[in-house]
Amino acid sequence: MKIWLKTQPNKVFRVDLYYPFRLELQLIMFTRLYIHIPYCRQKCPYCAFFSQEQTGDDLALYAELLRQEMSLAAENSAQHHQLDSVYFGGGTPSLMDPHQVEGLIQQARDLFGLAAKAEVTLEANPGTVAFQRLADFRQAGITRLSLGIQSFDDRMLRSLGRIHTAQQAREAFTEARRAGFENIGIDLIHALPGQTGAMWLAELQQALQLSPEHVSIYGLTIEDDTPFAEQFADDSPLLPDEDLAAEMFEMADDLLETSGYEHYEIANYARAGFRSRHNSGYWKRDGYLGLGAGAHSFLRDAGHGTRFSNVADLEEYRTSLDNGVLPRRDVMPLSRPDAMAEHLFLGLRMSAGVQPNVFEREFGTRLQDVFGPKLTMLQGQGLLTETRSGICLTRRGMLLSNRVFQEFLP
Ligand code: SF4
Repeated sequence: MKIWLKTQPNKVFRVDLYYPFRLELQLIMFTRLYIHIPYCRQKCPYCAFFSQEQTGDDLALYAELLRQEMSLAAENSAQHHQLDSVYFGGGTPSLMDPHQVEGLIQQARDLFGLAAKAEVTLEANPGTVAFQRLADFRQAGITRLSLGIQSFDDRMLRSLGRIHTAQQAREAFTEARRAGFENIGIDLIHALPGQTGAMWLAELQQALQLSPEHVSIYGLTIEDDTPFAEQFADDSPLLPDEDLAAEMFEMADDLLETSGYEHYEIANYARAGFRSRHNSGYWKRDGYLGLGAGAHSFLRDAGHGTRFSNVADLEEYRTSLDNGVLPRRDVMPLSRPDAMAEHLFLGLRMSAGVQPNVFEREFGTRLQDVFGPKLTMLQGQGLLTETRSGICLTRRGMLLSNRVFQEFLP
C-alpha cells in the first residue's frame, strides 16, 4: 500500500507502507552526518540510549551495514551537499576499529563530499582508548574527541556502572592530548545519588585542571525501564532534591564562566572557537542524516523539513538493508506550526536565543505576531529576557526550560 501525504498545497510526499517504510523526497538537504554505534562494553544501569553489549565480531559486521546504508542513502538523495560535520555517537563508538572509522569517513567523503575543515567527532569512553588507538583515530580523520568521563569520583563512577576509574579518565585525556587532539570535550553528570554540592565542586575543579576545550554538563535523569528506575523512586532520599540540583547547575555555570568558558547552550560550555559545530546544527535546525540502527534524521526540503528515525532493532536493521531498503520509520513531514515551535524551543536552548529577523526570514511572518503573548507572559515570569542578540532564557528559565518549551508546542 502507498499513501500520499499532502503537507502543503503544492507539496506531496509518497510513503510506501511496505515493510520497511520508504521515503522519497525530491529536494532534500543535509550538511551533517550522524553515525550511531549501538554497542558498549556493558550496559550502564541509568542508560536509556539504544545500545547493547558488544560480543564477538558485532562491530565489524555492523560497520559493513553502515556502509550499505550510506550507499543506499546516497542513491536516494536527489541532491548531495558537502558535509560540514560528521559525528560518531552511541553507544561507545571508540570500540570501533580505527580502520572501520576511516573507511566510513572516506565513504562519506566520496559520496557526499566533506568540507576541508569539517568537524569529525568521535565519542570515546575512558577504558576503551589507549594512546595508539587514539593516534589511529586521529590518523583516520577524527578531529574532535568527546570523552564520556561523567565523574571524577570513583564511588560515583561505580554507582553509574561505568567501566572506568577517575584515574583512567585523566589518563585517557592526557593520552588524547599526546596523540595530537587539540579539540577535546568532556561530559560530566551531576545530581548523582549521594552527591553533595562540595563533591560536585571538587569534580568541576578536577575537570578544569585538564583544560578541555569543551564541557557538557548533564543532570542525572531517571529514565523509565532502566535499572535505576527500579532503584530510585522520584522522591528517593538518595537523590539530590530539586534545589540542590539547581544549586549544582549554578555552581558549574559560575565556575566555568569565570574560567573562560562560554555558556553557549543550556548544557554546553566552550572556549572561544570550540563550540560543537555538529550539535549547534541540531539547535539551528540544519539538516542532518542519521545512519545506523536507532539513528534520527532531519532533512531540510522545500517544505518545513522532515524528521524520521531508523528502526531501533539490530535484526530489523540488518534485514531491511539485506533487502536493499532503507530502514526508516516514523516519517514526519513538519507542518508550519510544528516548524515554528521547533525553531523556538531549539533556538532558546542556545544562549544567543531566537532572533526575530531570522524567524521572519524563515517563516515570512513576525515572531511577535505568532508568539507575542507567550513571550510576554514568559518574560513576566522571569523565564525569558530580551538582549541585543535576541530573546533568551534567563538562568531561571534554563532551570525550568522544559516548562518554557511546552508553551510553544502547537
Ligand atoms: S557507555 Fe554510554 S551509551 Fe553505553 S550504556 Fe553506558 S551510558 Fe549508555
